[in-house]
Amino acid sequence: MGLGWETLIGLLGRRAPGTARRSPRSGETEVALRAALAHLPVAVWSTDDELRVTSFRAGALPRVYVDGPGFVGRALQELLGMGFVTAADAYHRASAGEAVDFELLWRGRLFKAHVEPWTEEGPAGALTVVFDITERRHAEEQLRHAALHDPVTGLPNRTLFLDRVRQSMARGRRNPGHRFGILVLDLDRFKGVNDSLGHLAGDDLLSAVAGRLAPCVRPQDTLAHMGSQFSVLVDDLEESSDLVRVADRFRAALMRPVRVRGEEVFASVTIGIAHGSPVYLAPEALLRDAHTAMHRAKVQGPGAFQVFDEGMHARAVGRLHLETEMRHALERGEFRLHYQPIVSLSSGRLAAFEGLVRWQHPRRGLLVPDDFLPLAEETGLILPLGQWVLEEGCRQIRAWRDGGALAPLPTMSLNLSGRQLAECDLVAEVQRALDAEGLAGCELDLEVTENVIMQDADSTRGCLAGLRDLDLGVSIDDFGTGHSSLSHLDRLPVDTLKIDRSFLQAHDGHPHRTEIVRTIVTLGHDLGLEVIAEGIETAEHRALLTEMGCDHGQGYLFSPPVDADAAREMLTAGVAG
Ligand code: C2E
Ligand code: CA
Ligand code: CA
Repeated sequence: MGLGWETLIGLLGRRAPGTARRSPRSGETEVALRAALAHLPVAVWSTDDELRVTSFRAGALPRVYVDGPGFVGRALQELLGMGFVTAADAYHRASAGEAVDFELLWRGRLFKAHVEPWTEEGPAGALTVVFDITERRHAEEQLRHAALHDPVTGLPNRTLFLDRVRQSMARGRRNPGHRFGILVLDLDRFKGVNDSLGHLAGDDLLSAVAGRLAPCVRPQDTLAHMGSQFSVLVDDLEESSDLVRVADRFRAALMRPVRVRGEEVFASVTIGIAHGSPVYLAPEALLRDAHTAMHRAKVQGPGAFQVFDEGMHARAVGRLHLETEMRHALERGEFRLHYQPIVSLSSGRLAAFEGLVRWQHPRRGLLVPDDFLPLAEETGLILPLGQWVLEEGCRQIRAWRDGGALAPLPTMSLNLSGRQLAECDLVAEVQRALDAEGLAGCELDLEVTENVIMQDADSTRGCLAGLRDLDLGVSIDDFGTGHSSLSHLDRLPVDTLKIDRSFLQAHDGHPHRTEIVRTIVTLGHDLGLEVIAEGIETAEHRALLTEMGCDHGQGYLFSPPVDADAAREMLTAGVAG
């Protein structure tokens, strides 16, 4: 159809709208035009400078359009009826010599229209070709509808929903009094229905729930469907608390069971609510916050609801801020290593230092790992940070040695995160860090938590073995908090077990905890491993562990983690605690 239209316009000596005149039509094109006319849903007419119809021909169009000859000599306005309103401007421009394309609604059908100033000798006028695009437009609209609606429920989908939210946000920016908000409704136990009764039943359930929810929204609101969730944009709110009332309405609508394939099913939804606000720049952010609130509500159980509050928002913004700050901190060198001694329990001599990362924050002071490591893990910043820790640890050993600290130097123990261990070139990275300072592998010990090792014991084994080939020591950190399988334990290439400090902290008054510690010490020795007890805070802890034959201890009794200068003093003394 499109080709026919273009051909016809071409035959008429069409020009792009607004361009200069081309040559007049030839007799040959008259013939081609007539042939095309007979087969295309078009009409062609000419008008004089007073917009009187001077000729009219209709192609393959319904009869109502074909009675055109009766129009010759009459006003164009009569021919077009209401359509003349949109056409008038095009004819006005054509009279000034411009070729104009526009859309014309004429007797209930939609036409693509082209008006061209009359190019032949004689009185001024215009030639008009109209092409029926009703079906084409209809098909386009169906496609558009399919792209913007969910096939199961026929409700707007995520794309359309976000678009509506975007419009509402724009209105909010223009008019600060405009209030709106969104709700995310997660269908509880939907997966259960899908798994037990099948996908088709799941779809039926969604449709039934959509049918219940739809009457609860006003015409200006948008109820959308995405997966097992429904989202609602509530526009033009009177008061913020209205959103909670809307949530109540939804919950009430689902009090009665819905019928799915002849079965009565109780459906409930967990709801997260977020209020629109100018702080949101993108609709996705508002939807994300509603999701956050919904997940909070889930914790309370099915059917609960939660409003995304300032606190949640502040935390979300805070995290974003922290991530940016952390990136800068790496560039500006705001991270530090502090050192905590690991002491031989039998002799009291300093055996090693554990390097523990700190962040010297310009405003918040010295931050401990709990303040920033979880986010570093999540964002991947742990990788550059971990590399810095490796390099700094090695640099420090070298500096102590160059500064004439007593030999032999204790080993340096550094912590590895799971993500670092998953990196394929970790071994090469460690090698580079050692080489840069001219250190031997045996001067370094790496600690990996039990959980990380056991999560994927088979794949970590290869990496740990690679580290051991560099003559490095490997310790299992926080031992006793994870789920070690003993079968894995005796095959792992490790040297040391570090008993998690929670065992000592909880030991006071719990004799069976004491027995667990004793068992771990024995187990470690049976496997040929050294054992370090973490969290030794009292002389009693120390005595107990010494009596159990534990090799080393670490904890506040000896020293908290200290900065490099203080650690150096300990080194010169050679003894701690
Ligand atoms: P961790 O490896 O178990 O480190 C020991 C933690 O216990 C340190 O906390 C230390 O300050 C604390 N501690 C030491 N002695 C005692 C004691 O007697 N009593 C009590 N209650 N606590 C004691 P910190 O420095 O806050 O580090 C926390 C965790 O952060 C570390 O636990 C480690 O998992 C992680 N971490 C620290 N530095 C790094 C690093 O450079 N890289 C990686 N990946 N993780 C690190
Ligand atoms: Ca550690
Ligand atoms: Ca530990």
